[in-house]
Amino acid sequence: MKIILLGPPGAGKGTQAKVLAEKLSLPHISTGDLLRQNVAADTGLGKDARSFMDKGALVPDELVTRMLSERITHPDVKKGFILDGYPRNISQAKGLDDMLKSRNTGIDMVIYLDTSVPLVIQRLSGRLVCQACGLNFHITNMPPKKAMICDSCGASLYQRTDDNEETIKKRLEVYKKESSPVIEYYEAKQKLHRLSADEDAGIVLGQILELVKRHNTNDSLKV
Ligand code: AMP
Repeated sequence: MKIILLGPPGAGKGTQAKVLAEKLSLPHISTGDLLRQNVAADTGLGKDARSFMDKGALVPDELVTRMLSERITHPDVKKGFILDGYPRNISQAKGLDDMLKSRNTGIDMVIYLDTSVPLVIQRLSGRLVCQACGLNFHITNMPPKKAMICDSCGASLYQRTDDNEETIKKRLEVYKKESSPVIEYYEAKQKLHRLSADEDAGIVLGQILELVKRHNTNDSLKV
């Protein structure tokens, strides 16, 4: 099954996608994570992407779409994927449709995690990320058992450089202008499912699993 998680920065897409991918045995593809890996490894793509990411702007479509089209050729994608952070605008949504069409497939469902702005700011400004496994924590909402250490793999946690007030504001502006039309794009295709992501992560996960179960009519996944 091919599932997209949509929603503003801080909606919990990464957190939900990680758990969901594990539960459904599907790969989690996060364009933000792929870009950060390229920045950390100082690849050509990482060098080109860094300045956009630091400003909270979108990395040019051409770079991100090329990166994603390469990722979906990997064998683990045969069963499907949980896509997080892409598409970010209509041009990317159309690009994804073309990419999948050329492989005789398409998106099965799009889950929109609707979240209020004050909550997004609170979540992002306290977010901690594991530098090894990418698991997300929060200084107050979901603190790690040991300060700045990942409960799951024991590696150090860090705060993303774009999780500062100024960049968060910019990312929200970009989201409103560029990404919110993508919601209507999938609504028109009758693929969109809306959920309130203001709830606790565990409650939201339960609702996502319920939606996937209802959609999994041919039992292609163990939910
Ligand atoms: P995220 O981890 O999804 O919050 O993404 C972090 C940053 O990576 C964004 O603020 C953008 O600069 C960049 N980025 C991630 N995904 C995309 C995308 N699909 N298109 C353009 N830029 C992206």
